[in-house]
Amino acid sequence: MSEVLVGGIEAGGTKFVCAVGRTDGTIEERMVIPTLHPEETIPKVFEFFKKHEISALGIGSFGPVDINKDSPTYGSITTTPKPGWGNYPFVAVMKEALDVPVGFQTDVNGAALGEMAFGAAKGLDSCLYLTVGTGIGGGAVMSGEIVQGLSHPEMGHILVKRHPEDAYQGACPYHRDCLEGMASGPAIEKRWGKKGAELSGEKEVWELEAYYLAQALVNYILILSPKKIILGGGVMKQPQLFPLVRKNVQTLLNNYVNVSEVAENIENYIVSPGLGDNAGIVGALVLAGKA
Ligand code: ADP
Ligand code: ZN
Repeated sequence: MSEVLVGGIEAGGTKFVCAVGRTDGTIEERMVIPTLHPEETIPKVFEFFKKHEISALGIGSFGPVDINKDSPTYGSITTTPKPGWGNYPFVAVMKEALDVPVGFQTDVNGAALGEMAFGAAKGLDSCLYLTVGTGIGGGAVMSGEIVQGLSHPEMGHILVKRHPEDAYQGACPYHRDCLEGMASGPAIEKRWGKKGAELSGEKEVWELEAYYLAQALVNYILILSPKKIILGGGVMKQPQLFPLVRKNVQTLLNNYVNVSEVAENIENYIVSPGLGDNAGIVGALVLAGKA
């Protein structure tokens, strides 16, 4: 086991998870605090990491974020409506305080890395991680590298075909009825008038949810052909969703993608995170190792 300690931050819209551990994914100490204004949250983060001798830091952050290393605003959170976090120079602030190399990615890219290293995609060279929670976001690793272009992908905002019997207008403030607008946790709550957790027994809720999620996964499969698809986030805590999503994916693909992972063995292809709720924070430790 490596003796070198590294730090990780999974910066979410609702909570910050900070951990000190090793690049083999082991965690030594962890702290969870609510995401308040940065003036309240960040000093607590400094205090936590200053207790330990860390040699690098990895951050998986809620976004959108600037991950383009050539950009003058590299390492900042960009257009979030969260008070205090818009244009927040996250990497610069952490470097200044801790004086260590900092790796920076979106939360879902971090989770995809963590799952590749130690979770459901261990031993593979590609995977896609999708979170279905307050928002929907996806990250992909292909041939061992995080997929990134002009910026990071925004897989949660792809366009989906509306169900003919679904009159809900959609919750996305930018596109209204994109995937996130139709299938995020808040979309479920607004459409049905109750939180997802209270709707477990309502069959039609999950059939409709699977109808939208499966369309998205089909598009990701057709474009990226990842070797594993991992679905995390609060909404995926409904276990009955998985078989429904898998069945809809197979129906939509209609045997066109003729690989056994999809056609015969889909229970092992579309799966929940192998690291459970630790995918993001373990991914942040992996990012620290790369930094
Ligand atoms: P975040 O996206 O804020 O990081 P989560 O992934 O926990 O956090 O997502 C929160 C969303 O997931 C909320 O809209 C919540 O209603 C929904 N959610 C949380 N738990 C469940 C559950 N057991 N079943 C269905 N929906 C849930
Ligand atoms: Zn959208």
